[in-house]
Amino acid sequence: MPRRPVVKKEYTLGERVYLVEITKGLGLTWKHFVFNIKASFRKGPHTVPTCWQYPEDRREIAPIFRGAHMLMLNEKGQELCVGCGMCAKACPAKCITVKRGKRQEGEEDKYAGKTYCSTFEIDMLRCIFCGNCESACPKGALVLGPGYELAEYDMESCIYNKERLLANYNEAKAEGKLKPPQKPVPVDAPPAPKKKPAAKKGAGASAQKAKAPPKAEGKKGEDDAAKGKTEEKPAE
Ligand code: SF4
Ligand code: SF4
Repeated sequence: MPRRPVVKKEYTLGERVYLVEITKGLGLTWKHFVFNIKASFRKGPHTVPTCWQYPEDRREIAPIFRGAHMLMLNEKGQELCVGCGMCAKACPAKCITVKRGKRQEGEEDKYAGKTYCSTFEIDMLRCIFCGNCESACPKGALVLGPGYELAEYDMESCIYNKERLLANYNEAKAEGKLKPPQKPVPVDAPPAPKKKPAAKKGAGASAQKAKAPPKAEGKKGEDDAAKGKTEEKPAE
C-alpha cells in the first residue's frame, strides 16, 4: 500500500502566539466553574449537577424498580404467604426455598391462610431480579421492593430468611415506599368464530356436475380421435 505524504498544517499568526487559544480554554473552564458555583446554591438534595453525593443524596427510584425482596403482610398484619411454592417453581435461578406449615388454632391473627411458610429463604447471590417470583405468587405475598443496598461482608448474610424478608417489608412501609397494588390488566375476549353456512344438497350436486363434464368431454374426444385413426386404416 502506498504511503500517504504527511502534510504539515500551516499555523496562523494567532495560533503561533497561543494567547488566543489559551484565552479560549480559560473561558471554557470559567464557564463551568461559575455554573457549578451557582448550582451549589440551588435548593434540593441534588446540589452539584455532575455527581450525586451518595449517601447524603439518594436518587428517586422508579415505582417499578425491582430491588430486595419483601414478604408482605395484609392490613390486619397477617402474613399473606401460604407456602404454596409457586415462586420457587417459577424462579429460573432456583434460589428460593419454601417449606409449608399448617396454621394451628390461635394463630389466625398471624397468618391469613390455613397454611403458611414455616421456612422461606432466597439466595440473593443467585437472584437475577427477573421478578418471576412476584408475578407467579397467587397471593401477592412476595414483592421485589425498593431496597438496593445489597452489599454484605459475608456470603451467609446474602441468604435472606423469612425474618429478613419481613423486616424489608416493615422498613419499606415505614419509609412510605411500598409499591401500589398491581391492578389486573383487562384483556378483551377474542371474537367468537363465525359459523359457516351449511351447503345445500342440490347446489352441491349441481356444482359437482358442472365440474365433471370437461374431463368426460376430453376423454370422449380422445376416444373419438382414436376411433377415427383406427377406422381410417382399412381404407388404405
Ligand atoms: S427475582 Fe427472579 S431470580 Fe430472583 S428470586 Fe425471584 S424469580 Fe428467582
Ligand atoms: S410467596 Fe407466594 S408463591 Fe411463594 S410460597 Fe408464598 S404464597 Fe406461594
